[in-house]
Amino acid sequence: MASLLHVAVGIAAARLYLGRRSLPGALAFAALSMLPDADVVAFALDIPYSDPFGHRGASHSLVFAAGMGALIGGLSRRLRLGLLVAVVVASHPLLDALTDGGLGVALWWPQEETRVFAPWRPIPVAPIGASFLSERGLKVMLAELLPSLPLLIYGLWPAQKA
Ligand SMILES: [Zn+2]
Repeated sequence: MASLLHVAVGIAAARLYLGRRSLPGALAFAALSMLPDADVVAFALDIPYSDPFGHRGASHSLVFAAGMGALIGGLSRRLRLGLLVAVVVASHPLLDALTDGGLGVALWWPQEETRVFAPWRPIPVAPIGASFLSERGLKVMLAELLPSLPLLIYGLWPAQKA
């Protein structure tokens, strides 16, 4: 996984949707941006990494992102929200595909179970779980800071007074 980039996407999406800074909004969209990594529970269930339901499997597909958008958009009856949720969730595997470690992402599941990476992989892969709080985790955060800055500035910039 990337790490800071996923959170930055969520913060920027909240600003785009709400038109203002909002901590609950930023937290909700950041959680949606990180949602595909809920599949790390597969490790505890002894599901192999390379399994379609292992880490970076089905939850990292465009079908999953579209499904989440349809679910939230349908429940809220807000098309714009559903579309944005689909884009935010889809951003996760697209960013993961730019990382330099692990297996690729099952972007095309269920049509294809092949894991894919982007041709250019400039983002160092982040350690999972508690090992994120390590020297390597800090290096990953610093490497992601620069590409995250435009999203964070957009998402966190104070509103202009009229
Ligand atoms: Zn991921």
